Amino acid sequence: MAEIKVLPGLIADKIAAGEVAERPSAVVKELVENSIDAGATKISVEIRNGGIKYISVEDNGKGIKKDEIETAFLRHATSKLREIEDLEKIRTMGFRGEALASISAVAQVEVISKTADAPSGTYMKVERGIAQPKEDIACNNGTIMVVENLFENVPARMKFLKKDSTEAGYISDVVSRIAMAHPEIMIKMTVDGKELFSTNGDGDIKNVVLNVYGIDYAKALIEVDYKEGPVHITGVIGKPEIVRGNRSRQTIFVNKRYIKNYGVAKVAEEAYRNAVMVGKFPFFVLNIDLPSELVDVNVHPAKTEVKFANEKELMEAVYHSVKNALFKDTTPEKVQEKKSEEVKPEPENNTVQFRMNFKSNFKREEAPKKEIENLLSYTVREETAEEKSEKDFEEILEIVEEKEPEIPVKLVGQLFDTYILYEQGENFFLLDQHAGHERLRFEKLKEDYINKKKFGQVLMIPVVMNVTLSEMEIIKEYSEYFDRMGFEIEEFGNDGIVIRQTPIITDDNEIKALVSEIVTAFDEKKKMAFADREEAALDMISCKYAIKANHKLTSYEMEDLILRVNELKDKGITTCPHGRPIQVQYTKTEIEKMFKRIV
Ligand code: ADP
Ligand code: MG
Repeated sequence: MAEIKVLPGLIADKIAAGEVAERPSAVVKELVENSIDAGATKISVEIRNGGIKYISVEDNGKGIKKDEIETAFLRHATSKLREIEDLEKIRTMGFRGEALASISAVAQVEVISKTADAPSGTYMKVERGIAQPKEDIACNNGTIMVVENLFENVPARMKFLKKDSTEAGYISDVVSRIAMAHPEIMIKMTVDGKELFSTNGDGDIKNVVLNVYGIDYAKALIEVDYKEGPVHITGVIGKPEIVRGNRSRQTIFVNKRYIKNYGVAKVAEEAYRNAVMVGKFPFFVLNIDLPSELVDVNVHPAKTEVKFANEKELMEAVYHSVKNALFKDTTPEKVQEKKSEEVKPEPENNTVQFRMNFKSNFKREEAPKKEIENLLSYTVREETAEEKSEKDFEEILEIVEEKEPEIPVKLVGQLFDTYILYEQGENFFLLDQHAGHERLRFEKLKEDYINKKKFGQVLMIPVVMNVTLSEMEIIKEYSEYFDRMGFEIEEFGNDGIVIRQTPIITDDNEIKALVSEIVTAFDEKKKMAFADREEAALDMISCKYAIKANHKLTSYEMEDLILRVNELKDKGITTCPHGRPIQVQYTKTEIEKMFKRIV
């Protein structure tokens, strides 16, 4: 076992001074991380009054030797490194030998600890940084740290604390995130005498999610396991239906240490685009394993903010890890289920499906990287650009023909000039005409765009628009893409453009708005893959084009929309490009229950 050493002055000086114990949750984090570093497989955290009155962290780790207990409380005392070369590692792994010293300076700390080879344990109290005489005590192997009356001697810090319940919330948040990073450790959290959660340490992160966030989350998880170069990303993500109005349930670890990094979170969210509504945040727990030399050493003292070397590569890996997992999950079941059977000769009437299976496997395992990237940039897409040929179309048609006879659709009518109502068998549907049409347009535009099929309409009267210098630069830089999207744009003086052709015919102001929205989408300051910026631009066009709400439709138009929306549904597409549902469905039984015809 490594002995605790006091860091030489040089290292001590090189380490940025920073307050470790800024609030109770930071104290808990340090203590629990120490338990993990000590190899604990069982950790129990208990707090009272938001941790201000009482924090106890008990573990079954390797313990601290009797003659090293005082040293552990010295500033820059750590058993976790000895040489200056290790400094980079210290910062990434959080070994700075500061926590116990800082905590004991602002609270009363009691420690009980026993190493496996010691006949008995040791008890020591440290009050405002001063160690009291040690005593022998009977106890289990491991360590108990009790921190009481935090910040009692630092009124300024006290004032800065929030309500007990809020602080307790911060603490349970920290502990639950650590629990998710360490499914192999049993972690119990008790708040004011009540057990908040406990994990079973069976190594399955899904069980941790179940214990911490409950069954709704546990039911909607998709596993992530993705390697790219030196980066290995693992964890779970929530299906698009598990969203919140904020990021409180997004967790990112680097080498199993919880970090905060807006960039990473943003990129992971990007992977959900078109599947999750704007303003909603998906659930994910991602651990990024990467060599510590790729983590920037300028970390915040609280160790939650990090910077990465090769940030771009890392972001791409994060993006693909999530997109990949989502994609696998949305691949139509039929194709997934059949996968295992593909080597057996298929009965004749199954040839089409067989081909589909073969193709989907081919795509997943053998397609060149570029193709996979293209493929992954669409959540529910099956085909890559190259494969999107007439032949595919035939296959889809064949499959449609092969399906069991469709239950006929009966149109009921239009509600508020916005929703199409219809029944099919025992089900009643409400279809949002704008959402449905927008998605259809979007899919079509995307297809044409990928196949470089020209679209666009020449304007009778060109539109002149003023642009800023930076907008002009983006328009020039991406002129090829504007062309492909059906625009014809020329420079006009030094602060203007002339728009001669557009993908859709609409009024001048809408055209101008569209161009400036696309310019914004193309702006590479948005930290997303270019394919996604292109997709965002196509989405803007389809939104402008689509039938609006408050628009009367004929029966024929409504029937056509129902039919086409349900074709999308068969492909697994059920939302508009912003992630809003296209239709909602009630069963006859549900409606009968509403009217209390049945119970
Ligand atoms: P650091 O964790 O950066 O080394 P700390 O001040 O948090 O610094 O802890 C100082 C030392 O005390 C650790 O290096 C470790 O040797 C010892 N220690 C602290 N907590 C525990 C624990 N729960 N089990 C075993 N050793 C511990
Ligand atoms: Mg520590």
